[in-house]
Amino acid sequence: MIHDQARYTHDETKREPLLSEKDQTTVEIDDDGPLPADLTRDSVTLPSLSEPEIARHYTRLSQMNWSIESGPYPLGSCTMKYNPKFTEDVAADPNAAIHPDRAAETAQGNLELRYRLQECLGTIGGMDAVTLQPPAGAAGEFTGILIAKAYHEHHNNDRSEVIIPASAHGTNFATASMAGYDVVELPPGEDGRVDLEALEAAVSADTAALMLTNPNTIGLFERDIVEIAEMVHDAGGLLYYDGANLNALLGRARPGDMGFDIMHYNVHKTFATPHGGGGPGAGPVGVVSELESYLPTPQVKQTDSGAYEEFEPERSIGKVHGFTGNWLVLIKTYAYIARLGDEGLLDASAKAVLNANYLASQIDLEIPYGPFHHEFAATSGDRDAADVAKRMLDFGVHPPTTKWPEMVPEAMLTEPTEIETKRSLDSLAEAFNRAYSDTDEAIESAPSRTAATRIDQASAARNPRLSWHALDSDE
Ligand SMILES: *Cc1c(COP(=O)(O)O)cnc(C)c1O
Repeated sequence: MIHDQARYTHDETKREPLLSEKDQTTVEIDDDGPLPADLTRDSVTLPSLSEPEIARHYTRLSQMNWSIESGPYPLGSCTMKYNPKFTEDVAADPNAAIHPDRAAETAQGNLELRYRLQECLGTIGGMDAVTLQPPAGAAGEFTGILIAKAYHEHHNNDRSEVIIPASAHGTNFATASMAGYDVVELPPGEDGRVDLEALEAAVSADTAALMLTNPNTIGLFERDIVEIAEMVHDAGGLLYYDGANLNALLGRARPGDMGFDIMHYNVHKTFATPHGGGGPGAGPVGVVSELESYLPTPQVKQTDSGAYEEFEPERSIGKVHGFTGNWLVLIKTYAYIARLGDEGLLDASAKAVLNANYLASQIDLEIPYGPFHHEFAATSGDRDAADVAKRMLDFGVHPPTTKWPEMVPEAMLTEPTEIETKRSLDSLAEAFNRAYSDTDEAIESAPSRTAATRIDQASAARNPRLSWHALDSDE
């Protein structure tokens, strides 16, 4: 059952007053401090509120926002999954927050955790070595492509192109061009996968790398991956794996075994830590042994005596972030992997795929491509996907990613993740179906029951007003 009653109706939350609007109390200041008179005031006006008033103010503000703890958040490709609270406890351990410049012999526990996480991620991805430094998926891609570039340069191999399927995440294109490569875009085959003939035509002695995600961004497994890898390798190129879709593969298949040479892990999508609201993530990068010496510095190794220490790989591309990157996110990653273990990770990927397939079976929208794994791209057909999505907000769920990838018209790219129960998938399906079959009038004016109703998205993006002072000019 979906909630017929919105958590907060529009009217209730139209305007949560600022603390300074709730109260203005002028307090006299004793003027016998050491500061010069021209730097001090006699009085100051501040809100004088009780603790419950303040707690309620911030709670109300937080409830106008959406989070994975408010309800399902099935953004396709973005993988919004619940962050188990024990990972927060582990990351909040005061021993975790030591100064990164502390001498290695006094920081063995932290170094061991880094070492173990390098090893765990390597095992999960089938990679020989891993850097934890990049602070996000996009930063991981950039690091990986810089490693590919350094490798080609070291082998006096002048290559100018990176091949990317049209359905790839936008960051892939940005990464390749920021690293100085020309992008060769690969049109999708009729079945939504890489078209081998198109790839054959694109691959050449200029190919530095092919960037691929598997399952791809509409959840389809690239069945020809071994052949694809061979084609790229035969031409002297490297194979890059965009690891944002690892939820479908955990414990079942490894990019390294498919022939990939470099990959990043979106640990904030696969191993807890949802990244909504711009929170920090981490994008470790794994490589095969031939590329190990190019990894960013420092890496962690275990010496013969059993102690852990940092070292700089021989041909390191340098640093891509200060110290260890987003350390607390990495601690959560390790805690999540350690708690779940082999069995738990296998269970997570099974449920990620099962949940996507169950949800798909319960919605009335057409899904043009399949069979899919952890996510699917439904189409809202002749209804505007953004309108349907906005109406879903009124039914107490967050909508999926809309209008992307473009190979599916009016796409609603949906990834429920493994965390949702059958109950919550059923309510998600009901929200989908009710929004999809609603009247034009209802969907075009939606959402009507959220704290902010329909906003002018283009102006909000191009002309953002980020200060509360903007409120003054509104009134
Ligand atoms: C999210 C995502 C990225 C980028 O990761 P960020 O951490 O957001 O920089 C890259 N590729 C795919 C397929 C993604 O879903």
